Amino acid sequence: MDIKRISDKLSLSEQLQLADIPLLVEQGYRSIICNRPDGEGADQPTFEEIRSAAEPLGLDVRFLPVVPGQISDEDVTAFSQAMRELPKPTLAFCRTGTRSATLWSLSQASSQPISDILSAAKAAGYDMSGAARRLANGGKTPTNQADASYDVVIVGAGAAGIAVAASLLKRRSDLEIAIIDPADIHYYQPGWTMVGGGIFEPEETAKTMGSLIPKGVHWLKTAVTAFEPKNDSIILEGCRVIKYGRMIVCPGLKLDWNKVEGLSDTLGRNGVTSNYRYDLAPYTWSLVQSLESGKAIFTQPPMPIKCAGAPQKALYLSADHWYRNGRINDIDISFNNAGGVLFGVKEYVPALQSYIDRYQASLNFFHNLVAVDGAAKKAWFDVSTPDEPVRRIETDFDMMHVCPPQCAPDFIKVSPLSDAGGWIDVEQTTLRHKTFDNIWALGDVTNAPNAKTAAAARKQAPVVAANVVADIAGKSAVASYDGYGSCPLTVERGKIVLAEFGYGGKLLPSFPSWLVDGSKPSRAAWFLKEKMLPPIYWKAMLRGREWMAEPQALKSPD
Ligand SMILES: Cc1cc2nc3c(=O)[nH]c(=O)nc-3n(C[C@H](O)[C@H](O)[C@H](O)COP(=O)(O)OP(=O)(O)OC[C@H]3O[C@@H](n4cnc5c(N)ncnc54)[C@H](O)[C@@H]3O)c2cc1C
Repeated sequence: MDIKRISDKLSLSEQLQLADIPLLVEQGYRSIICNRPDGEGADQPTFEEIRSAAEPLGLDVRFLPVVPGQISDEDVTAFSQAMRELPKPTLAFCRTGTRSATLWSLSQASSQPISDILSAAKAAGYDMSGAARRLANGGKTPTNQADASYDVVIVGAGAAGIAVAASLLKRRSDLEIAIIDPADIHYYQPGWTMVGGGIFEPEETAKTMGSLIPKGVHWLKTAVTAFEPKNDSIILEGCRVIKYGRMIVCPGLKLDWNKVEGLSDTLGRNGVTSNYRYDLAPYTWSLVQSLESGKAIFTQPPMPIKCAGAPQKALYLSADHWYRNGRINDIDISFNNAGGVLFGVKEYVPALQSYIDRYQASLNFFHNLVAVDGAAKKAWFDVSTPDEPVRRIETDFDMMHVCPPQCAPDFIKVSPLSDAGGWIDVEQTTLRHKTFDNIWALGDVTNAPNAKTAAAARKQAPVVAANVVADIAGKSAVASYDGYGSCPLTVERGKIVLAEFGYGGKLLPSFPSWLVDGSKPSRAAWFLKEKMLPPIYWKAMLRGREWMAEPQALKSPD
């Protein structure tokens, strides 16, 4: 008997045999729910036989038989009632456990977020994504009609979503396009490093969403909760259903602040900050200005993260301020990085290392932040050097800049669109979903091995737009993405090491080396970041002007 735990109170299993019942008692179970009708299969004891074997051993039993695919709202109510009344823990079973898992999932729909239910079921080995629509409807059977239908639906109106909407309209202004995003404000996140360094004002990095969504695109101001790719449907909050001809998925990634114990409680206080949040980047700058001496730690979590250079950019701009103000010898700077290298593309490392040396910073590789006590000014890191057992170290600090752990958004992880790691599973050149032909993804949410940056989204958007338009015209993919991403490393105020590279770490410089040599700090690259990239973002990328981002033609296979 293969028992799968789905919650503290309930486990599920395939068909129970009479010989299993004493084992259940030994394992501490106190009740059984049978969800399989009698006589379905030859190998199955009847419910009365189960009752006769279980009750003398002190187990309570309940018979709630359901037929696959025909679970009524009354069945769900009866299951919830049984779970309230029976002593715990309970074991529920049917032929495979799936009907019991479905009943449990639906019984939780009014009390837990859908993604938590789908994720608990998935962890126990049951794919409940087919019940998403009903889960979104509080567990009750929904009406089957879609609220609206569009040629193209885009999930997420961040850097990738608005850029791809604009690039689609540029190619086919007649398309009915909907973009779904609950946010009122759209952020230019690449500007937050500059806010943390006292160069930009926070307001320069934010605009209202409504002012950016291209004219003619329908904005559905709500969140997507689940996908039904086999029905070409998306479930929105409140169980609205939207149908699409083609779908483009780009909801970014999840900053997992709660993965570090104590972090959420102390962010923005006690010297703990992060440029990864709009409201906290100004706090970075105020801490940097006020720190006269002591210990400053900059952290980097395991990959993948968005803008892999951002954790060290915060270090360089802070250290540059202390360097210029004669405080560098009084401030002990550490870069505690869960990874084992300063930067993933080796050509840029010598220039970066020279700044680490200038600022006398300690590089602590394989150090992963796991807990913070802000009031006590203490942090704990798991140190996992290759070939050595993991050890936990405690350190104190006066200022700490945290880059949070990152993962795919919960509603993506539990969807049929994700790979084993939770990211959307795309072909890396066309950005088309590997399983569902009428779905594409771009931006931070995909499993393509590019650097997760707005620069990548700038190049990806025209590729996806061209391929979607070709598909609508009945043609195969026409455009290809080479993995381009860019990371302008702000090594000092006024100079940048401009890392630009594609799949496999191949260098892909945008400018001739006499103008910008990416492997060396340059003023021209700083000018690009400070003065040119913001207008390129707001006025070109988000408006379908594909400046230096024309899609490359897809080579046909030989
Ligand atoms: C501190 C920092 C520095 C950075 N520096 C740089 C840099 O120098 N250069 C660079 O190129 N990149 C940089 N980046 C990275 C860049 O900002 C991201 O890679 C880029 O924003 C990704 O775009 P995206 O559209 O995939 O996600 P996002 O821009 O994050 O947008 C995602 C959108 O999806 C929406 N959404 C989420 N869930 C749902 C849902 N359930 N339903 C509907 N909508 C949903 C959100 O509201 C949001 O509007 C930096 C990022 C940070 C945080």
